[in-house]
Amino acid sequence: MQDITNIFELIKTPANVAITMHQKPDGDAMGSTLGLYHFLKQYGHSVTVVSPTNWGSFLNWMPGCDLVLDFENKNAEANNIIAAADWLFCLDFNTPSRVKKMEDSIRQCKATKVLIDHHQQPDTEYFNYGISLTQKSSTCQMVYDFIVAMGDTDKINTEIATCLYTGLITDTGSFRFDNVDAAVFEMAAHLKRVGVNHPKIFEEIYDNFLENRFRFIGNMLLNRMEVFYEYNTVLIAIPREDLVKYDINTGDTEGLVNYGLAIQGIKLAAIIIDRTEEIKCSFRSKGQFDVNTFARTYFNGGGHYNAAGGGSKESLQTVIYNFKTAIHEQKENLI
Ligand code: 5GP
Ligand code: MN
Repeated sequence: MQDITNIFELIKTPANVAITMHQKPDGDAMGSTLGLYHFLKQYGHSVTVVSPTNWGSFLNWMPGCDLVLDFENKNAEANNIIAAADWLFCLDFNTPSRVKKMEDSIRQCKATKVLIDHHQQPDTEYFNYGISLTQKSSTCQMVYDFIVAMGDTDKINTEIATCLYTGLITDTGSFRFDNVDAAVFEMAAHLKRVGVNHPKIFEEIYDNFLENRFRFIGNMLLNRMEVFYEYNTVLIAIPREDLVKYDINTGDTEGLVNYGLAIQGIKLAAIIIDRTEEIKCSFRSKGQFDVNTFARTYFNGGGHYNAAGGGSKESLQTVIYNFKTAIHEQKENLI
């Protein structure tokens, strides 16, 4: 993978550009891809954002989100875009397996592949050009840095600012995590000057759910949360029937994992969800417990030091059992 600075001139010639992100995109994945979309359009490219799967409806208000192609839903159209692409930008993920059913399509894609990402252990073989910085708060911050480094600060308009601000707040827990440095606040200040409506963005993301989600969360905290004080760990395991009973959709479980971490002394919080097609795991930690390594070692996953995820094709009960075995093995690191 060559340094991304090598594309600064090449990318100024109009071409077919496809931009993609990890499956079940979150605020940072959607914000960074749409931010880049609005930027590259200004160079006269034909640009399409393709998501490997659907996404939470709390992102639908974002400028350009209505044009994003869901690979599962619009398969033929998405495959045509990927096959015709001269450039394929991969944002907020760093290995082809993170796009699930889209993996074959992007592996066969002849386009020049560019990585912009902040997750650990990038698959650098796959990308022609790129930048991978694990210390960055968000991929949105990296797209911002990319635009500025290209000398195009003046191209950052309200649409770009709105998209990038979204990922900035969702990936930093609204500026609270360790990955927030002075540059993040400087970026936020610049986006504010360009015109972001920050209370509106916050409301769109965090104050826009339906009643069922809160009934569901209440039930999870009351009936599904287990606290293992001897391991400073909290687990919420969610059976399929709960998702059906409360009519839970993609995006409704976002943030649930953080409740466990708010309990005094807890170092590791996990949720394990039976999403039918797979069992999905989310891990969050405080301080010196490395959930990226934990997710890689036990759950075929990865991510960041304090926020990671993984999955399994086994039954929910087996994954719960495996989790309990894993925390027992990791006891030294958890106490
Ligand atoms: P979440 O728990 O919100 O799904 O994900 C937390 C972080 O871990 C995100 O940065 C996400 O991209 C990453 N992540 C989640 N699931 C997986 C996975 O299965 N594999 C890898 N490599 N990363 C994951
Ligand atoms: Mn991210």
